[in-house]
Amino acid sequence: MREYDVIVVGSGVWGAATTWALAKRGYRVLGLDQYLPPHNKGSHGGETRLARLSNSSGEPIQLTIETLDLWRALGREVDQQILLETGTMFVGQAGSRWFDSTLENLAESPFDYELETPAKAMERIAGVKIMPNESVIWEPAGNVILVESAIKGLHLAARRLGAEFEFNRAVTDWTASPRGVKVATVESKYRAQKLVIAVGAFSETFLGLNLPLIVERQVVFNFPMIRDSHVLPSFYFAAPPGSEAAPSYGCSEPDGTYKVSIAGTGNCISPDEMTQNVTHAELERVQDVVMERLPILDKEPTKSMVCMWSEVSDGSWLLDKHPSYNNVIVGAGCNGRGFRYGAVIGEMLADLVEEKGSSVLNMFGMKRFDDY
Ligand SMILES: Cc1cc2nc3c(=O)[nH]c(=O)nc-3n(C[C@H](O)[C@H](O)[C@H](O)COP(=O)(O)OP(=O)(O)OC[C@H]3O[C@@H](n4cnc5c(N)ncnc54)[C@H](O)[C@@H]3O)c2cc1C
Repeated sequence: MREYDVIVVGSGVWGAATTWALAKRGYRVLGLDQYLPPHNKGSHGGETRLARLSNSSGEPIQLTIETLDLWRALGREVDQQILLETGTMFVGQAGSRWFDSTLENLAESPFDYELETPAKAMERIAGVKIMPNESVIWEPAGNVILVESAIKGLHLAARRLGAEFEFNRAVTDWTASPRGVKVATVESKYRAQKLVIAVGAFSETFLGLNLPLIVERQVVFNFPMIRDSHVLPSFYFAAPPGSEAAPSYGCSEPDGTYKVSIAGTGNCISPDEMTQNVTHAELERVQDVVMERLPILDKEPTKSMVCMWSEVSDGSWLLDKHPSYNNVIVGAGCNGRGFRYGAVIGEMLADLVEEKGSSVLNMFGMKRFDDY
């Protein structure tokens, strides 16, 4: 049986970032994944993720600064472009929860931004429709993250520091005791001092902890540009005041198309039910956004992609020790902003392995739920 200091189950963005963080700290680490990441059977599918500097959900600004620094450091380490600085526009009416919280967050941050009128914003980007009663928050340094470069970069950087990965190896069993952990796949058995579980949407199935977690199906479509193929900034269109609906959003993709989706439509699934089939109703909802907001795009998509994210009941992440085992660390509840924060979440999960607590980590602990 092979032995490691730490085994990390899941080598998507959180698990891969944790493996890199632990390898940097000198641990002998093994990363295991049931598939070959990047893939489109979990939460990181597709080519891109938006990485605005603002947030609407109360994560400390320091985490944004640290995660972007880590992505840049990874890009230098593996000599790959991971972040594309396209700028981000957040469009909405004053009084909309998402719009107001974004503005408040930026006002407290050191990041550059401008509050623009619809006319000024439409001058900046011809072919985008902004309503007269809306305002636009322009973040010039908003980014798009290239998923494949990011995930493969994390694997490469971790390997260079001695970490090992085994892909297409589903973990079928694990046990923990104060003496260490044992992990089994169909092919092999492994032993380690500590275990990190970062299996994304599969967390509930894998952990069986009855966590307050749901898994939501998400659908994105790519549309060709009608006029030219210059890189557009990323967009968020906030729902009007009084609506709790999450924004629709979009960004330029490396193939010259523009990806558009509507976040958090409430379509809960079990992770093994996810297929890449899309319905006509799902397409029509996104086409409505394209026709209303982005007439610069042709309304017939070139492709679609289905993905799923998991969400804890309070919308925040779950980063903590397993309630029954001190040497098992759990990262779950990735939600719709878990990719851009993935690099710093890897560091936080590595801190938990080293039993380093912090006030920031306390925000994401299990104790906030009554049952744990
Ligand atoms: C459509 C969509 C758009 C999004 N847009 C954004 C965005 O713009 N910005 C942003 O920051 N975030 C975004 N997100 C969220 C982000 O992609 C996720 O938060 C992030 O990918 C979560 O990473 P993860 O490592 O937790 O999960 P994953 O990347 O899914 O990794 C989990 C891994 O665990 C493996 N695994 C599961 N079970 C086992 C097992 N038994 N044995 C071994 N391995 C196992 C899986 O194969 C998988 O590779 C979006 C998500 C979706 C679906």
